Amino acid sequence: MPHDFANDAEAARWNYRPPQPLTLNPLFVWPPNPRAVWQWYRGAWLMITALTVPLAIALVIWALVLPPLEQMKTFQFGWIFTVWMMNVIPQTLVAGALHWWLYMRRGQGMQKKFDKRDLTRKNGTFTFSNQVLDNIWWTLGSAMSVATVYQCIILWVMANGWVPVVSFADHPVWSLIWMALIPTWSSLHFYWVHRLEHHPRLYKHVHAVHHRNVNVGPWSGISNHWFENMFYFTTYFVHLVVPSNPLHLMFHVYFQQISPVFSHCGFEKLIAKDAEIARSGDFFHQLHHRYFECNYGTSEIPFDRWFGTFHDGSEAGTTQTRAHKKQMYTR
Ligand SMILES: [Zn+2]
Ligand SMILES: [Zn+2]
Repeated sequence: MPHDFANDAEAARWNYRPPQPLTLNPLFVWPPNPRAVWQWYRGAWLMITALTVPLAIALVIWALVLPPLEQMKTFQFGWIFTVWMMNVIPQTLVAGALHWWLYMRRGQGMQKKFDKRDLTRKNGTFTFSNQVLDNIWWTLGSAMSVATVYQCIILWVMANGWVPVVSFADHPVWSLIWMALIPTWSSLHFYWVHRLEHHPRLYKHVHAVHHRNVNVGPWSGISNHWFENMFYFTTYFVHLVVPSNPLHLMFHVYFQQISPVFSHCGFEKLIAKDAEIARSGDFFHQLHHRYFECNYGTSEIPFDRWFGTFHDGSEAGTTQTRAHKKQMYTR
């Protein structure tokens, strides 16, 4: 039964905890288990998830909103403003909707909610002394601004033909493979950037803003300090190196910006009228927010297992993380 806890200490910490040990991408397990790999990728790509929602948004925005590349050869207020809106509106709609359903309307009560506590109000750690307002400010102010600047630079370089731009019609196989690999690239980039941010100095002045959220909510996803966002969004510059289409950039953008809304929402699944409608939260990353020095990456590429920082959700994982933390700070 997924709800049973190893002991009282664990029970006191969580409202709900998925079965442990947490599973990581079976692609990296030896001997190979094709069935598990198929189920892993089917679960990610063929259901409503933190991956397919960004893909759907990317397709719609790319087809209907993104200005043609010819218009973006020179920096002009019109298209730059459009790109900014392309960031702000979907982010607000998705994070706002999840926040409303889970924390205001309390549509599914405590079902599949990891943390026992509600989001924080009247707490001086947060900007405006309110967790949600703090998170909205760092998302819409800091994250959306940095993301817009980077995207505009990339689109401008593409528009001027200074890097190869591929079309889906001319290079369908490459285009699809590259689409499928974007989450893997993002995961790889995220691990190393995130690891860097846990360097004590950077942590104290920069990454601590994201970690104010020990108990996370939908708006916490990319609630980051300006400097953190300057690192975090460098992932997009891969499109100046790897031949891409603007649609690749769009998918990358929404994957990078919208999927953290789901992974930080604090609930494992979204439930309406007793039916599970989407996979959402990510206990793997929830553990990072609770215990800090573990699970720096994602479950997509098992860097944490390889480097000994994997917390599998169990009591033993907590003990191990605490020992690692002590060692880090007494060096
Ligand atoms: Zn962190
Ligand atoms: Zn986080």
